[in-house]
Amino acid sequence: MSIIFKRTKILATLGPATDSYEAIESLLLAGVNGFRFNFSHATYEKCNQQTEWIRQASKKHNKPVAILQDLQGPKIRLGVLKENMTVAIGDELILDYAAEHDGFTIPTQYNLAEKVKVGEPIYIFDGKIRTTVTEITSETAIKVRVENPGTLMSRKGINLPDTNFGGDILTPKDLKDIEYGITRDFDFVSLSFVQSPDDITNLRQILLGMGSDVQVIAKIETKAAIKDDVLEAIVKVSDGVMVARGDLAVEAGAEVVPIVQRRIIALCRKYGKLSIVATQMMASMVDSPEPTRAEVSDVANAVIQGTDTVMLSDETANGSYPIEAVASMKKVILYTQENASIRPLDEIIQMKNSQQDAISTAAVKLAEQLKVVAIIAETKSGGTAANIAAHRPNLPLISVTSSVRSAQQLALSYANRSYIRPDGETSGLDLARELKADGFFGDKGNVTVAIVSGRQPGLIGGTDTIRVRVLE
Ligand code: PGA
Ligand code: MN
Repeated sequence: MSIIFKRTKILATLGPATDSYEAIESLLLAGVNGFRFNFSHATYEKCNQQTEWIRQASKKHNKPVAILQDLQGPKIRLGVLKENMTVAIGDELILDYAAEHDGFTIPTQYNLAEKVKVGEPIYIFDGKIRTTVTEITSETAIKVRVENPGTLMSRKGINLPDTNFGGDILTPKDLKDIEYGITRDFDFVSLSFVQSPDDITNLRQILLGMGSDVQVIAKIETKAAIKDDVLEAIVKVSDGVMVARGDLAVEAGAEVVPIVQRRIIALCRKYGKLSIVATQMMASMVDSPEPTRAEVSDVANAVIQGTDTVMLSDETANGSYPIEAVASMKKVILYTQENASIRPLDEIIQMKNSQQDAISTAAVKLAEQLKVVAIIAETKSGGTAANIAAHRPNLPLISVTSSVRSAQQLALSYANRSYIRPDGETSGLDLARELKADGFFGDKGNVTVAIVSGRQPGLIGGTDTIRVRVLE
């Protein structure tokens, strides 16, 4: 007997298209496991309201979900232009943090003069206009030469693919957003344009200093971050990694993205970190009720590579078919997981706590050999469940925790379904019996489950027992 259960999770970005309780509840019921607030656009008022709606819907349907605060980082934009402006090869523009638009002088929302060097490329408008820095003209302004013709518009993004931020990627806006975030019920914070592991350790230091228990996700979207040793070091210091394919394609070239995606997912599995594949997964569904064949293939491949989570951006934030996009994704995930196995890892899974790791390895092996219907993990900090998830079990992983935060964080983990139970009140076995009585494992007959736990419930790192139990 097996139960049909979506093992790869869905993270949906909220925006104008989904700004109501009803929309959020529908997304949840369609298969969403987590919501992303994009702090390039989000306002505090909206976030407060939407957080409330998410927690309300989650409670109503007894389904813990994750909330991710996505920090803008040094996502640089042009300021306001008086009108659209066509540029030609050889034109020289002044990009000035302190000026208004006037002829070839264009305002920017960031002081580029502090970071860029002569000779470095600057890409404007998602890479459509390529320029090269020719001069640092003042403390706030630089001169660039245009390399290809095109049109510039207000607030278009700027990418600096070769600029070293020297560990200084958090902007004053990010710091303000972090301060806001720690007062809210967020489970993850992600940082854009990470260049080195230090960017993540710095952020973690700031969060720890404020007493925050959010987990930290590194967004991989720069050339600096995808260098071999740098990428692995970033994975090691993060709680999770997002393959931020949108900006990564601009900064490093679209052709590198599929390979980087595979490497990131493999590294995350190796170190037991959360992996998220993001951007344009169902992009055509912004305007169409059906995905393209290529998009379906893209989602299926991410599932086969063993990502924990796939993400929707514009599809749910601004699109005309947000619910359909989630439903389509879910259909692809279910079909793929039932008809293909996850690509095996070349490397042995390596996590910090080797006893926990050995127990997880054994539990998954035993569960698959005995064809149990589910693995039940009693997990305090979520560590044991995350560890089991890293093995990509082909059956549901039921996590039982007394920590609401852990339950919400685990919502994005492979194969997971979280249940919140006070310590000592009900064991994993009790929960399994309840679920059986509710028909969770199908209607009748005996079912076998594997239970992973510690003899001292609630003790972090105390996992030491695997039991196999038949539920009647
Ligand atoms: P963004 O990040 O949507 O915040 O830009 C994801 C990406 O770049 O792919
Ligand atoms: Mn990005």
